[in-house]
Amino acid sequence: MKKRMKIWKKLLTGLIAAAGIMAAAFPVFAENTETAEMSARYSFYENGKEWSGDIKDNTCEAVPNGSYVTAMKATLQNQPAGMTGTIAYQVNLSGSGWIEWQENCVEAGASSGDKPLEAVKMKLTGELAEHYDVYYSVYQGGSWTELVMNGETAGVEGHGQRVAGLRVAVTKKGEVPAEPIMAGKADPTKPMIALTFDDGPSKVTARILDSLEANDARATFYMVGNRINSYPDAVRRMEALGCEFGNHTWAHTYLTKLSAQGIHDTLNQTSGTLQNIVGKRTTTVRPPGGYVNDSVRQALASYGISAVMWSIDTLDWKTRNAQSTINTVLSQVKDGDVILMHDLYSATADAAAVLIPELKNRGYQLVTVSELAEYRGGMQAGGVYYSFRP
Ligand code: ZN
Repeated sequence: MKKRMKIWKKLLTGLIAAAGIMAAAFPVFAENTETAEMSARYSFYENGKEWSGDIKDNTCEAVPNGSYVTAMKATLQNQPAGMTGTIAYQVNLSGSGWIEWQENCVEAGASSGDKPLEAVKMKLTGELAEHYDVYYSVYQGGSWTELVMNGETAGVEGHGQRVAGLRVAVTKKGEVPAEPIMAGKADPTKPMIALTFDDGPSKVTARILDSLEANDARATFYMVGNRINSYPDAVRRMEALGCEFGNHTWAHTYLTKLSAQGIHDTLNQTSGTLQNIVGKRTTTVRPPGGYVNDSVRQALASYGISAVMWSIDTLDWKTRNAQSTINTVLSQVKDGDVILMHDLYSATADAAAVLIPELKNRGYQLVTVSELAEYRGGMQAGGVYYSFRP
């Protein structure tokens, strides 16, 4: 009932607003003619891997620890019509020094090589340079360098320091960039939880990934190894969205029924299958049925992996009812929770479509299990974890 009232209220507000616009000025769609702000789009090549996705203006994005960048490219979006110029960029490539300026998404650096970038310069050209500034910074030696602008050097050249990330922001002349967006990083001072999906992948996994993608959220998938090769696209998408790969054994076997060698074998088979598709191994294990004992713990410790259980059990496999899953989560959720669901049922995908935006709306950052653990004291191999409270 409450929900229906809300919808009516929304409709009414909309009608009043529309009437206001019509009365104020024709044409009705005048507001749509306002042009979007010009912004930078950029990407970089991670050594031996691939191009990052398109990075949005003023976003700090870096490669994982230990890795580095071998090339970059950039362009502009919503450039004002009739205004000449472009965004140009130059890189200092280790061993080669400064190489020529590039523009329009032409690669600067050497993506096919293994030499790191050491420093970066960027500038706007043509009429753009009179009306806009470009600010940029690189991630180097474990921190972001001070923002520089319009042709200045970002990064330390000639000392073997490797560029491991990039931030680019275009502003109107004289304006300074807003606080940067931190790509893929949670704010450790704010609440966070980990959604986990067991027993997949399956044909409903794609819908759950749709909900995660639409809300810029991540989850951890505890996959059954023998299903992975049937859903390679789902697995690749998990990787692209920053989701985490968990291990749920090759054939959903209870670990308490296996020898130490049997445990190692079933985890390895699952991890190896995943590695063949995305080049990554599984990070933690969720014991099927939640069964662990001392010998399982020892086997996991010697394999170098920890077990992650859950603090909220939605019982989605039993109820197959989206509303029940939604209510269970929303009535219990607290900072540091690990939530158990299964990406096998369409009711679970329905629940995820509601839960993911609503949890974000309530201020929860939806992170992977390993990220949650990282901010909350970490994990030990052989440890068994139920939640990660602040
Ligand atoms: Zn299971």
